Amino acid sequence: MKTSDQNNSHDNNSSELGFATRAIHNGYDSSTEQGALVPPLYMTSTFTFESAEQGAALFAGEQEGHFYSRVSNPTLSLLETRIASLECAEAALATASGMGAITSTLWTLLKQGDEIIVDKTLYGCTFSFMQHGLTKFGITVTHVDMLDPENLRSAITDKTKVVYFETPANPNMRLVEIGAIAQIAKENGAYTVVDNTYATPYLTRPITWGADIVVHSATKYLGGHGDLVAGMIVGSEELMTKIRLEGLKDMTGAVMAPLTAFQIMRGLKTLEIRMDRHCQSAEIIAEKLQNHPAIENVYYPGLKSFEQYALAKRQMDKPGGMIAFELKGGIADGVRFMNELKLVKRAVSLGDADTLIQHPASMTHSTYTPEERTEHGISDGLMRISIGLETPADIIEDLICALDHISSLQSTNEQNVA
Ligand SMILES: *Cc1c(COP(=O)(O)O)cnc(C)c1O
Repeated sequence: MKTSDQNNSHDNNSSELGFATRAIHNGYDSSTEQGALVPPLYMTSTFTFESAEQGAALFAGEQEGHFYSRVSNPTLSLLETRIASLECAEAALATASGMGAITSTLWTLLKQGDEIIVDKTLYGCTFSFMQHGLTKFGITVTHVDMLDPENLRSAITDKTKVVYFETPANPNMRLVEIGAIAQIAKENGAYTVVDNTYATPYLTRPITWGADIVVHSATKYLGGHGDLVAGMIVGSEELMTKIRLEGLKDMTGAVMAPLTAFQIMRGLKTLEIRMDRHCQSAEIIAEKLQNHPAIENVYYPGLKSFEQYALAKRQMDKPGGMIAFELKGGIADGVRFMNELKLVKRAVSLGDADTLIQHPASMTHSTYTPEERTEHGISDGLMRISIGLETPADIIEDLICALDHISSLQSTNEQNVA
């Protein structure tokens, strides 16, 4: 199979086998597992040594093999191989959560006195980790608006060891141009780390654009069914080994459970068809929302009105399943709207079969102070919706009914005022 080194394509089917085929088959040979179609689940913490000498050789790294599941486990190894293939990378690392992936990576790459430059908008707990975690240990965290890569060029110094961003960003859908940012980081000797949770490797493969490391909350689309919490780290063999042995094994210990890896591999089998459906429904719904009188703004990479529509076309194979929007009546209407919904669930998380709606300012991004939210581009009226896999007409009906209700309240108010 070709790797990203052997071609310059950003295409998700640039390997010999297509994306969905690799998501189902990559890295598994049933003949070594008694013919089992589904890879066995190795629910074991430890592995026996044939001899004391063999144990010592494994620990010394002179022999390949598993010896303890905080270091490696066959079920996790298979998931890692599969995710690496989907991301067009050499290697991957499974972690207990998305935050486990992010913290294991950054604790490995950064030390006291270093600087990390991060985008203006970040997922709430990532922001909190930067703002209150890294800074406690003498690491400088600098926020830069990466919508214009030139801002990074002006800010980067020889202390900058990592450049970090999400694209699309959670929750406001801002896109960052991976190639341009990675280029500037590389010229200055810094690693580029991209949180690819929203796009998934089906829509964007940051490694093919020059990123060094990709992190995921596998809790979201990769798992895809709302029944697990997990993370992934992707990159070169060398970096993954370093993060495995330093950040993950010794610093965070945020190791994925074998059962979780098994569940994610089940989810991966349908990643392509799920993403196709998420995108197809979201495109229709974003249009409908945009045309509704109760709505002020819709942020969706597939809309022609989206500020970064051209970049979305270049960098994403499809516009994704996440939509952000603001109601004309701000947060008061947002609360009324959420409470009016019958099918769509009020819940955080995203990427599930179930359509989920939440209010970032009071939920996922309440880790920001109100002042920080203003500064970082997260308005109080912003709503975030993760379009699920239900019959599209049913999701639309539920959303439009609730919006119509808001509009009718607005027109009553206007009449009262008049
Ligand atoms: C959810 C999320 C995370 C954190 O992942 P967990 O699995 O909840 O730890 C990180 N980044 C983004 C973009 C997310 O949406």
